[in-house]
Amino acid sequence: VARELHPHDTQVPLGNTQIGGERFVVIAGPCSVESREQLMAVSKMVKANGAVAIRGGAYKPRTSPYAFQGLGVEGLKLLKEVNQELGIPTVSEVISPEDAEMMAGYVDMLQIGARNMYNYRLLEAVGKTGKPVMLKRGLSATIEEFLLAAEYILAQGNPNVVLCERGIRTFETATRNTLDLNAVALLKQKTHLPVVVDPSHGTGIRELVIPLSRAAAAVGADGIIVESHMNPKEALSDGHQALTQDLFEQLMRELKPFVAAA
Ligand code: PEP
Ligand code: MN
Repeated sequence: VARELHPHDTQVPLGNTQIGGERFVVIAGPCSVESREQLMAVSKMVKANGAVAIRGGAYKPRTSPYAFQGLGVEGLKLLKEVNQELGIPTVSEVISPEDAEMMAGYVDMLQIGARNMYNYRLLEAVGKTGKPVMLKRGLSATIEEFLLAAEYILAQGNPNVVLCERGIRTFETATRNTLDLNAVALLKQKTHLPVVVDPSHGTGIRELVIPLSRAAAAVGADGIIVESHMNPKEALSDGHQALTQDLFEQLMRELKPFVAAA
């Protein structure tokens, strides 16, 4: 993944678009797929405002085993429906190597969550599918470990990896995580892979998502992946960090100079 070996930016295909290169992209959607109505409504809203892909978890690696764990295959089927009805690609997290091939039939990009960045069998499994992969940085992973995790996927012959900085664990407890913008700038120098930022998990606070999205664009990220919900109070996960329709519209207005840089 070293830039010395491949000086040109990798462009990872995603549906009719790509991540990396000139255009700053916004991927958006709910933390979890909760129902057809919920997913369809928020997907239509973010697409209408310029999102290039829909995110939504069907398998949720929750901190508590008693929290909502996701709809599983039902959720994947709903993501497929969104893809077919709205013509927009989808991204969803895979948490088990046995599911990788199956999930590749339902979604356009496989997400490796922060908790699984060190799950090397899972990295190999998504590598083997050949599907584009969104690799999230582990909660306490160094940049070197992050890049080596990406190597596991590339070593299987899959070059389509997008790195995602989603905040790291620090002494600070006022925010959910500490978004490491240093890492974004450094990664852009060290690797040819696209780098996106997740300001939702990076801050855990809805009101901070727009400022940190602007920061992501300013520091040179290739895009952001943000959580959004039509009714965050009712969300089954991460409602406190989900952008409402109003805030999502504001986000896209504020990012216009970057998104338009195509
Ligand atoms: C998510 O994207 O919903 C998620 C669980 O993120 P992370 O793995 O970064 O915590
Ligand atoms: Mn979430």
